[in-house]
Amino acid sequence: MKARELPVEGWSKVVHFTDEAVGLNAIVSVHDATLGPAVGGCRIFPYATFEAALEDVKRLSRGMTYKNALGGIPFGGGKSVIIADPKEDKTPAMFRAFGAALNSLNGLYYTAEDSGITEADLGIVREVTEYVAGIENKGVGGNPSPFTARGVWRGIEAAVRHKMVRESLNGVRVSILGVGAVGMSLAELLRSSGAELTVADVNSEAAAEAARRFGANVVTPDEAVAADVDVFSPCALGGAINKATIGRIRAKIVAGAANNQLAEPSMDEALRAAGILYAPDYVINAAGVISVGLEILKQWTADEMNRRIDAIGPRLERIFDRAASTGRPTGEIADEMAMEVIAKAAEAA
Ligand code: NAD
Repeated sequence: MKARELPVEGWSKVVHFTDEAVGLNAIVSVHDATLGPAVGGCRIFPYATFEAALEDVKRLSRGMTYKNALGGIPFGGGKSVIIADPKEDKTPAMFRAFGAALNSLNGLYYTAEDSGITEADLGIVREVTEYVAGIENKGVGGNPSPFTARGVWRGIEAAVRHKMVRESLNGVRVSILGVGAVGMSLAELLRSSGAELTVADVNSEAAAEAARRFGANVVTPDEAVAADVDVFSPCALGGAINKATIGRIRAKIVAGAANNQLAEPSMDEALRAAGILYAPDYVINAAGVISVGLEILKQWTADEMNRRIDAIGPRLERIFDRAASTGRPTGEIADEMAMEVIAKAAEAA
């Protein structure tokens, strides 16, 4: 195995690992480790060039710094990528070599799931290293989707309180784009609070299930974006808020589970200017990292998860309040608050 540290300004440590014998070509990027060891998933993707992989892992690891800091867990931001085709190139030997690479960092970075890598793959990594989380073990950790849905539900409550000055979701109209693992659980929670649902999914069976179970009104994905509702909740892919959709959103609130909801950073200010309250995606959907964090701390229980996830509501309210009092967009405020958490920890150290 070869390890080559890459000098990257603004990042704590970026290392390129290669092991030709087993086809491992990986980059581990630790953006910031002020709060503790860096935590973030491993993505397996057939990047066209090494530079593209490096850019992606840098961007993703920086995002984890903000996400972990505002998730309230004592971990820094990191991420890794393995340059390979997840459909063809994965082998147990490659995962063991990746585990050995993590060992060489002596606990500076813990990996977990991301696209292209499964829980079973991580199980092989775990054979050789303890620096891996996100694996279900006797009811601890594992699938975070129901917890993510709970966080989004709490986030919608906070947004409705702030924007509509209403304490209850009873009668609040919500359009959910994507009723998969998270969206369907969210629909159940919202319905139990008396919300009225509109749903859309490219999988017509999922949409029909939401109609049957929760009385949801089924529309096309395009109609879900422009629905006459109070809350638009993107729970499918990223990029739901873009130049083409922003002018069509009639909701007063955007609050959903999807990662990277803003197709470009300028959408943060565009939402504010349109009078739409945006719950920053990485704050409202933080349950997955909270679960991984508790797993590493060996503090994972369902009660502790729920307690931490319920804190997402008050955390968002602080973001909304500062955004309102300063006239700035909520995404920018979230980043600022994350940096404050890190600066405070650095001062105390
Ligand atoms: P999922 O794959 O179970 O569900 C996504 C749903 O969206 C599917 O039903 C799919 O058919 C539908 N969909 C896909 N493209 C669509 C389109 N163009 N229009 C309408 N529907 C479409 O995924 P999930 O686990 O529910 O995650 C949903 C989103 O939340 C993803 O962006 C994911 O990255 C993010 N997220 C999930 C978790 C988690 O705990 N699962 C945590 C954080 C963030």
